[in-house]
Amino acid sequence: MTNPYEPPSTPLDRPEGPPLPDGWVPCPGCEGTDIKMPGFTWWGGAIGQKIISHVKCNDCKRTFNAKTGASTTPAIIVYQLVVGAIVVGIIFAIRM
Ligand SMILES: [Zn+2]
Repeated sequence: MTNPYEPPSTPLDRPEGPPLPDGWVPCPGCEGTDIKMPGFTWWGGAIGQKIISHVKCNDCKRTFNAKTGASTTPAIIVYQLVVGAIVVGIIFAIRM
């Protein structure tokens, strides 16, 4: 006979928070899993954050790479340089 008042066993280390999508790591700042990818960023528009896996923790507001947990700041700079080079290239191509 089972005891209905027995607390349910929780083998999970972190029962709180929503599950992470495949390939995403928990927040490097607070170990939280409440992580979202913004729909729009000031530096990447609507697609930049998808290209470099830029996400934000809803608990501590830290932003990082969803796949590595590293800072996305260098990737944002590279992204802006690449986009800038493409824009300059297009302008030159039009003026030629
Ligand atoms: Zn966090």
